[in-house]
Amino acid sequence: MGDKAQGRKILVVAELRGETIHPVTFELLGKSREIVEHTGGEVYSVVFGSSIDKAKASELIHYGADRVFLFKDPVFSVLNPMLYAYNLVKLCREEKPDIILMGATCFGRSLGPRVAAALKTGLTADCIDLRIDENGELIQVRPAFVGNILAHIKTKTKPVMSTVRYRVMKAREKDESRSGLIIEKTAEKLFQDRIRLVGEAVPKRLNITDAEIIVAGGRGLGSAEGFKLLGELASLLGGVVGSSRPPVDDGWIRKEHQVGYSGSIVKPRLYIACGISGSPQHLFGMKDAETIVAINSDPSAPIFRVADYGIVGDLYQVIPLMIKEIKARRSSVG
Ligand SMILES: Cc1cc2nc3c(=O)[nH]c(=O)nc-3n(C[C@H](O)[C@H](O)[C@H](O)COP(=O)(O)OP(=O)(O)OC[C@H]3O[C@@H](n4cnc5c(N)ncnc54)[C@H](O)[C@@H]3O)c2cc1C
Repeated sequence: MGDKAQGRKILVVAELRGETIHPVTFELLGKSREIVEHTGGEVYSVVFGSSIDKAKASELIHYGADRVFLFKDPVFSVLNPMLYAYNLVKLCREEKPDIILMGATCFGRSLGPRVAAALKTGLTADCIDLRIDENGELIQVRPAFVGNILAHIKTKTKPVMSTVRYRVMKAREKDESRSGLIIEKTAEKLFQDRIRLVGEAVPKRLNITDAEIIVAGGRGLGSAEGFKLLGELASLLGGVVGSSRPPVDDGWIRKEHQVGYSGSIVKPRLYIACGISGSPQHLFGMKDAETIVAINSDPSAPIFRVADYGIVGDLYQVIPLMIKEIKARRSSVG
C-alpha cells in the first residue's frame, strides 16, 4: 500500500441479484468509508449488469461510494466469471486501487481468485473483520485452523484483496443526499460463448442468513427428535430452524442450520434460543438479532444476559404451550 498520507483507494465490487444490489455490497461500502475516514482516500465501486441503470447505480453512492464504474451490457445477463474477471482486472489496472473488497458469496468466491491471480496478488478469503493498524495497513481477520483461532493477516502484495462474509459488517444508513460520480464503462466482450445459460436452478438449500425468524435448538434438546417440535413452532411463525454446534456435531441436524462462529451469522427480527447455553461462539452468530427469546432450564445460563425475554423452564413444556397459544389466537382471529 502507498504512503498513509496519500490515502487509500478502496474498490468495492458490487454484486447484483437480479435487479437488486446484494446487501453485502452496502456492508462493504460502510466498512470502506470507516477505513478512508481514518486513512484518507476514496471509495470506488464497480457494478456489472445487463439492465442496471444510473439510478440503481447511484444507490452505491448513497451507501458510501464516491465513484461508481458502471458496466451495463447484455453480456452480463449470464454470470460468466471469466468475462467479469477480465473487465474487473482491466479496470483495476487503470484505476490502481490499494484495496479490493467483495462479498464471500458464490459470486465473490468465484471472481476473487481469478482477479487475484491475474493481478499477481494475494487474496484473503472469508474475512470476518477488517481493521487498520497504526501505519494505515489493512489487517484482515479470518477464522483459521477449522475456526480454532482468529488469524490477523497483512498482505505483502498489492493490491490487497479480501472477500468478506455477509452480515459481519454494518451498512451505513442510506443517504440520498450523498453525491458522487458515475462513470459508464464499455465492456470487453471476451469469452462470451464459453458459458451458456440453460436454466436457473432453484436453490434447495436453507437460507438461514436472510431468515427473519429463527427457532434454534441446542444440546438441551437431548436428541434429534426435539427439532421436530422446533420445526412446528418455526413453521407456525413463518421462520426456519437454527442450531448450535453440538446438535450438528452429533448428526441431529445438517450443518447449514448452524449459527455461530463456525456456522452462519444471522440478524433475524426474532431469534428463539431453546436449550442453548449462550457460549461466545454461538453469540457471535446471533447477538445482533432484533429480539432474542431464550428458553433454558438453568436460570444462570449466559444466554439470559443477551436475551430480551427469558423463560426459565423445560423447553419440552414451554414450546408446546407456545404452539397451543399461537394456534388458539389464530383460530380466534380467523
Ligand atoms: C473454534 C470453535 C468454534 C465453535 N463454533 C460454534 C458455532 O458456530 N456455533 C455454536 O453454537 N457453537 C460453536 N462452538 C461450540 C461452543 O463453544 C459451545 O460448545 C456450544 O455453543 C454449546 O452449545 P449448546 O449451547 O447447544 O450446548 P450447552 O452449552 O451444553 O448448553 C445446553 C443448554 O441447554 C439447557 N437445557 C438442557 N436441557 C434443557 C431443557 N429440557 N429445557 C431447556 N433448557 C435445557 C442447559 O441448561 C444448557 O444451558 C465452537 C467452539 C469452538 C472451539
